[in-house]
Amino acid sequence: MKTFKPSMWALGLLAILFIGAPASATAAPCLVVTLTGTQGGPSAFQGLAGAGTLVTYGDEANGCRAVILQFDAGRGTSMRLSQLGITPGQLDAVFVTHVHSDHVDGLSDLLQMRWMQEFKRPKVDIVCAADAPAPPGHVMSCARLVVHAGDAYVQSGEIAQRRSEDKTRPEGGPAQVANVRTFASTDQPQVIWSSGEVRVSAVRSTHVAGHASYRVDTPAGSVVIGGDAGNDVPAPPRSSSTSDQVEALARGAQVIVHSVIHPVMGPGGGTGFPAPIYHRQSTATDLGAMAQRTGAQHLMLTHLIPPLGADRQGPYRLPKGAITAADYEAAVRAGGYGAALTVGGDLSSVRLPARK
Ligand SMILES: [Zn+2]
Repeated sequence: MKTFKPSMWALGLLAILFIGAPASATAAPCLVVTLTGTQGGPSAFQGLAGAGTLVTYGDEANGCRAVILQFDAGRGTSMRLSQLGITPGQLDAVFVTHVHSDHVDGLSDLLQMRWMQEFKRPKVDIVCAADAPAPPGHVMSCARLVVHAGDAYVQSGEIAQRRSEDKTRPEGGPAQVANVRTFASTDQPQVIWSSGEVRVSAVRSTHVAGHASYRVDTPAGSVVIGGDAGNDVPAPPRSSSTSDQVEALARGAQVIVHSVIHPVMGPGGGTGFPAPIYHRQSTATDLGAMAQRTGAQHLMLTHLIPPLGADRQGPYRLPKGAITAADYEAAVRAGGYGAALTVGGDLSSVRLPARK
């Protein structure tokens, strides 16, 4: 029998392999999707934060946080980010689906904090659709929202007072730390932002004028953030309440994050919830069907209407009482969806690749 006698050369090689192995393992790319707020609509319920999704990409060595992206920033976003150990100044970009307050209430807070404490960092990109005129005559303007995000603090005198304490803070207040980047909405996906290996694409989708849905592609996987998208046809009869553009955008993406409305809020359910507002959201059942068609591995429901455990959606009372996560799941499964499902609570999270 031969005895194995390693030479010095072989020992050296083994040492290199041994030392090298953990290094290559830590370089494995990873993507983390975390719901920073799951409240559906502008009402407040039991401390849920307003709509928002954090997407971070990197590798094991940096905790999957080489690139940090926030999609929408509803009420309380800075508080949820603080629970994740992320400061407003660490955000590389904020993407806005639409300028309803429940999706942007937290933006001025993020910018004010960045202006006060982290203004030496590069400006943060605020990415959203270009000004969108709507048929009634108003214009939905994300650009104006951002430019005026700090106006109340300027008008109150706070910005001048804080600059008197530190004159290196940018003159003009919170809007000065934001770099607004608007894009012309298209029905076909277009890349509207990128950083290294991370690409973000957008499509026009229907909810209110200027609504956009996003997809993040990375070497670790892809996630689609639908926002409050609904079908271009505003009411039945139609093939689905979900958006055809979002469906095309989501094809092949592992994770879909989407706002949801439960069928109990629908016309005839006795809630009195206005039918046009019901019809401009995607139902749980139609989202299940869409996620099944696109081949998603994970559907994350957020912006829940109604919230779990709530016996009302704002002023609209549910005649049969509160619904549960199981009720949302049943509605999604009725659409034929068979893969993983998260019925979002604040800070629900999915990681790609999943931890073994
Ligand atoms: Zn909303």
